[in-house]
Amino acid sequence: MSFLLKNATLPNGTKTDLAIQNGRYVAVGSLIPEHKVIDLGGKQVLPGLVDLHTHLREPGFEESETVATGSLSAVRGGFTAISAMANTSPVADTAGVVEQVYRLGQSAGLCDVFPIGAVTQGLKGETLSEIGAMADSAARVRVFSDDGKCVFDPLIMRRALEYVKKFDGVIAQHAQEPALTQDSQMNEGEISAQLGLKGWPAVAEEAIIARDVLLAEHTNSRLHICHLTTAGGVEIIRWAKARGIQVTAEVTPHHLLLTDDYAKNYDPIFKVNPPLRLESDVIALRAGLADGTIDIVATDHAPHSSESKDCEWAVASFGMVGLETALSIVIKTMVESGAMSYEGVAERLSIAPARIARYENHGQAIEVGNVANLTVVDTAAQCTVDRDLMSTRSKNTPFHGFELPGVITHTFFNGKLVFGE
Ligand SMILES: [Zn+2]
Repeated sequence: MSFLLKNATLPNGTKTDLAIQNGRYVAVGSLIPEHKVIDLGGKQVLPGLVDLHTHLREPGFEESETVATGSLSAVRGGFTAISAMANTSPVADTAGVVEQVYRLGQSAGLCDVFPIGAVTQGLKGETLSEIGAMADSAARVRVFSDDGKCVFDPLIMRRALEYVKKFDGVIAQHAQEPALTQDSQMNEGEISAQLGLKGWPAVAEEAIIARDVLLAEHTNSRLHICHLTTAGGVEIIRWAKARGIQVTAEVTPHHLLLTDDYAKNYDPIFKVNPPLRLESDVIALRAGLADGTIDIVATDHAPHSSESKDCEWAVASFGMVGLETALSIVIKTMVESGAMSYEGVAERLSIAPARIARYENHGQAIEVGNVANLTVVDTAAQCTVDRDLMSTRSKNTPFHGFELPGVITHTFFNGKLVFGE
């Protein structure tokens, strides 16, 4: 199908009409007569959002999410590419499993689902997985991560960084020093002391980030730090970038908005790994995202069944869903505060993640000739988050009932309208 989108506002503020035909943007004048006209009425358009950190739970935990339900959740959130983390069952540590996930994404057909390969076999941290075979597979894996667990052994980390250089890959580290975080439940501080919950100190995250930027320098390889949460972590990344180290970093929407204050009522909907931190950390994360120290926003979309969240804090699972609220939270925390423009949003949520992961056809300029992966958002509209209206199979959003700015009205994937009408 061909489309004429009238009255779009590009990230740089320019008003224009856009034409889409055979999957790409074409000149408005060259559009065939049989096209659908959609008047966007000045709505903001962005290159299709790209998430580098998505837990899709298939294979193995389909009661929480499948590749298909996660894809639907993604396009409702404006994402045209998502990255399936490897902590499935079986773990995505072989060419066979990553190809399975990739094909499930293709058959869902709503967005690109790019599997992330495990760094170590079974996420055990002991032996490197089949990194080369996953890179050569049909899924062409370029991002490797044991996310959920930290690649703790420095020799394994060094070898992994060396290995992925061969094909321009990147290691995405979940920075969590295991001995310092054993049985940890939330941020270590005044509130964890008040609540009697075991704390998770900032240094447990920062010590691994510091070690790994030095390993990235030593190996001259590419490192990506997942879900940065502390002011100290931002400082280390800033130092490493100034030194020319090839490191990139992400922050989640929930760490841009929420603090450990939310744990005060023991509601495990706010239990997440890494934990919600302090107001001073939130301020540093926003500043780091605004100035480019933090390259991208990634959701860490982590669906969990109600049984594993509707229980006592100490036994509840870590994690929050995030695909359908990510853009609204970025608008609330970064755009409405004046810290970022929509060009910045396009860079942090589409262009930079596509560049880090080497995803072709994503994060491209909205211009004639490029593949039409496009998100349309009504930035003037407000929505009240309702977990029961979400497409994700799990309901563990911490934002239920929040009033947030921005409503996604259309998502185009490879020139097809996959959300909206
Ligand atoms: Zn993680």
